[in-house]
Amino acid sequence: MRILIVEDEPKTGDYLRQGLTEAGFVTDLVRDGQDGLHIALTEAYDLVVLDVMLPGLDGWSVLSGIRRSGKDLPVLFLTARDSVDDRVKGLELGADDYLVKPFAFSELLARVRTLLRRGSKATTAETLRVADLELDLQRRRVTRGGKRIDLTAKEFALLELLLRRQNEVLPRSLIASQVWDMNFDSDTNVIEVAVRRLRAKMDDDFEPKLIRTVRGMGYVLESSS
Ligand code: CA
Repeated sequence: MRILIVEDEPKTGDYLRQGLTEAGFVTDLVRDGQDGLHIALTEAYDLVVLDVMLPGLDGWSVLSGIRRSGKDLPVLFLTARDSVDDRVKGLELGADDYLVKPFAFSELLARVRTLLRRGSKATTAETLRVADLELDLQRRRVTRGGKRIDLTAKEFALLELLLRRQNEVLPRSLIASQVWDMNFDSDTNVIEVAVRRLRAKMDDDFEPKLIRTVRGMGYVLESSS
């Protein structure tokens, strides 16, 4: 899942970026409204965290621009003042939710996850399944055959991607961009290592094997082998 952060305050921006990255999201941080709107419209994101007071173009204008484009993109806006007018204005302009600064990161993360679930096309399923493997999006838990499997944030994101697009061969380049903030040309070994670790946890001791390598192409998670 990719999240765009538009925030000019260095401390808040870095804090958001670091927290969301550690939670397993791929994040881009932009510090100017004009750049924020441009990148929101030209790149594929699953959500935008948008500050209201920004240089270049304020958050309201960025939000209107996103909504005018017709792009179906959840927006969580951050307002510095606990002002009813600000909140109403944001929601009227099409924001999906707001948070008043200062906020606890755990609260932001909860809102982000709720918005992503609401926006997910997969009939807001909170559990993804294949064979006897279950991935619980809300509790961030994975089990296979009822046995708990502990994954890192990246392994979880990788498995979530494979599950959402099961039976589809996913090229390494796509996995790199969706799970890591990387281009294909960068170190693809990272993906191989992560897939190997993921398999060791959720495939090696179980049958059937779910993740298959398609040589020269990528990986596929198959619902029946
Ligand atoms: Ca600001």
